[in-house]
Amino acid sequence: MPDLWFMPTQLHFQTIHVRGKTDWVSFELADSDGTFGAGEITSTQLDRNVAPVVARLANKLRGEQLSSDEDVLRFNRLSPADLEANVLLATAVSGLRCAVADALARRSNLPLHAYIRQQHGHEGDAASTVHLYANINRSMLENDRGPVDRSPDSFTEMADRAMNDGFTTAKCAPFDECNAPHEQSGLPFCAEAGLERVRAAKDAVGPERTLYVDCHSRFDLNSAFAIGDELNSADVGWYEEPVDPIENTSAMRRIHESSPLPNAGAEKGYGVALFKRLIDEDVLDIVMPDVKFCGGPVEAYRTGMELEPDRPGSVSMHCPSGPLSLLASAHATVAFENVLPLEHAVYEVDWRNEVMEPFEKIENGEFHIPDGPGLGGRVDPVMVEMKGRRWEE
Ligand SMILES: [Mg+2]
Repeated sequence: MPDLWFMPTQLHFQTIHVRGKTDWVSFELADSDGTFGAGEITSTQLDRNVAPVVARLANKLRGEQLSSDEDVLRFNRLSPADLEANVLLATAVSGLRCAVADALARRSNLPLHAYIRQQHGHEGDAASTVHLYANINRSMLENDRGPVDRSPDSFTEMADRAMNDGFTTAKCAPFDECNAPHEQSGLPFCAEAGLERVRAAKDAVGPERTLYVDCHSRFDLNSAFAIGDELNSADVGWYEEPVDPIENTSAMRRIHESSPLPNAGAEKGYGVALFKRLIDEDVLDIVMPDVKFCGGPVEAYRTGMELEPDRPGSVSMHCPSGPLSLLASAHATVAFENVLPLEHAVYEVDWRNEVMEPFEKIENGEFHIPDGPGLGGRVDPVMVEMKGRRWEE
């Protein structure tokens, strides 16, 4: 491969209003020939504005010959340890690494998954479709008219809709009423409503198909044991983040030791070293790198390649955001040859597929990666015009 580089000179941001408090935020980095790369920086989990940080870091890349997405760290004098410790910085770096990898893949005229594999000497072609699981939670969050129905019936309805659409696994986050710490030991009263929702969703999913449950770190050491037993009785497929496995590692390890169900988590983690530690030290069974926080698609690929050969099914990318991050996650997921499905937040808005150019294509629970170099798609500027705004900073 001849020396290949990308020299960014322009940066713009774009946002699309989705519903309630959710906006999908992304940016494009371009050179003077019109080659560009994109990254999503939606930060609903952070409540912070990432764009100014992206702009500051991108300034150090202007006019430089970038030949690897890791040049984002090099030119900004950042180490993986700096990013492990700062999720805001990790989000900005992950977006930029995604954009640079997208641009370099476009320059090589290869789809992103093929470019990543070529850079790592990984032979053979990746799959062009990815098995998804349906996260039904965001479809039941507040919309522009106010709060929506979070009753067990509503969970049944959404899980049913996902199964009818061909998904074989769904996920919900049902414990709205709970927040740690819990004064009682054993099963907290606040969990009853959430368990009702779990049973309702599992009824719709059925015994042959799978329901994952995300606890959003709403429990603590004592309550998590009881919750795990209840979820096991409800025939749930994985038990995600009763506590935060990164901030509360020793509690998560103790919960995991006696958990009857596989434990998943670490969605806000950065870097292969962190994910490897969580698996090697028996904190989790499944790590969930999010392309927006973990270092981008190349770092997610490396995480998969580090862990999956010895422990098939130990990596499932977290992806509850917009279609650009799903596309980047799909490239990384097929590149490391996933066992577990990739997350997809279903039914947030009925025009989601039209946000991308070409349209996002999901059929029977399978994501179809578009042909073409790089990500193979971009956020459609016309949709930005209609449903959001574009700006520079
Ligand atoms: Mg989660």
